[in-house]
Amino acid sequence: MLARKMLAAERSRMDALTAAPIVAPGLEAAGPAPRRQTIAVRVGNVTVGGGAPVVVQSMTNTDTADAEGTARQIAQLARAGSEIVRITVDREEAAAAVPAIKERLLRQGLDTPIVGDFHYNGHLLLSKFPNCAAALDKYRINPGNVGFGQKRDRHFATIVELAIKHDKPVRIGANWGSLDDDLLTALMDANAKLPQPANARAVTREALVRSALLSAALAEEIGLPRTKIILSAKVSAVQDLITVYAELARRADYALHLGLTEAGMGTKGVVASAASMGVLLQQGIGDTIRVSLTPEPGGDRTREVTVAQEMLQTMGLRTFVPLVAACPGCGRTTSTTFQELAFEVQDFIRTSMPEWKKRYPGVETLNVAVMGCIVNGPGESKHADIGISLPGTGEFPTAPVYLDGKKAMTLRGPSLREDFKKIVEDYVAKRFGVGRPAAGADAAE
Ligand code: SF4
Repeated sequence: MLARKMLAAERSRMDALTAAPIVAPGLEAAGPAPRRQTIAVRVGNVTVGGGAPVVVQSMTNTDTADAEGTARQIAQLARAGSEIVRITVDREEAAAAVPAIKERLLRQGLDTPIVGDFHYNGHLLLSKFPNCAAALDKYRINPGNVGFGQKRDRHFATIVELAIKHDKPVRIGANWGSLDDDLLTALMDANAKLPQPANARAVTREALVRSALLSAALAEEIGLPRTKIILSAKVSAVQDLITVYAELARRADYALHLGLTEAGMGTKGVVASAASMGVLLQQGIGDTIRVSLTPEPGGDRTREVTVAQEMLQTMGLRTFVPLVAACPGCGRTTSTTFQELAFEVQDFIRTSMPEWKKRYPGVETLNVAVMGCIVNGPGESKHADIGISLPGTGEFPTAPVYLDGKKAMTLRGPSLREDFKKIVEDYVAKRFGVGRPAAGADAAE
């Protein structure tokens, strides 16, 4: 009797399963919303907006007057994958060094576009140093600090006129920390007179959006075409950034530069940047990104480039470098072998990439999995192009390797790490090398 009841229950469960759509509509597609339509802007040899891939950019922290040191850091950032690099141009010595910086880079075969970051005296520096104005590929100005009072519009107009003369695009970058005081005060006063005034933070967000848009309108009035304007409105709080950019995107179709300003140090900077920009990129908002991380003293500046690339790649927006998936480890893997292998393989891939990129087109789409034990190891490894499942505590001291979803060999012994890296290298050559067979056709032989 009980058995019959269980059978009937099982049948009705199966009927319900097959009657429902096999894939629920909400699961049919996964990925970011279509990119928002923006106006394309050429920055040197790179296109920002207009449907072009989201561009990664970064900024130096050297004294620009030190042409050699600045060119060296730009080269490091460019080789790490920064497609545009911004430098501070804060005084005459810095402006004078810009042509020499550009020349040094070109001598190394690096034509990465260079952006000059101007505050307060940009109108003077760009006028006095025409070679600097010509060498830069874009000017970045902040409408909140191009000048004060009546001088502000005059200074802003001078920079825009110079951009027109030198045929350069301009990023109009409003910033929460240096917001146009007159505009903010006017909005605050008007808000205070309302029967139900908005809160001060909301008024500040509105001022930030308006500052960027009014400045862009003014630049257009002076004669700068829309194809030469990129906007940004940076704030340091995640929720403000999301709200401000969503509104900016709603009100205009200028290309947008995304960035959380003063994101901070270490994991906080990475998490805050990813949390804010991830939401916007998922909504199709953002044409170029910069991750502003505070490096440790003497720390590696290129980290901000790696984080920006990984953010775009993990979201499925671009591919830069093969990703290594690794499980977090747990009580089932009590040795450090698997963590060491995961780091070693990631490092091996990153250092091999400059050469691989030249020889193996498409190699950046490779997926590698390094897993700690049999629980998820074989399953995850089968989903990767190359996967290895290391022996967890109490398992046989062997490591099955999977190529294109099929078990291909088993590694064991002290040379396991080197053997696995060799397998990765051979797979890359076979699959992505010129004259290669169809992807993965013979990888499991
Ligand atoms: S794969 Fe194994 S070692 Fe890794 S997290 Fe899962 S259970 Fe733990």
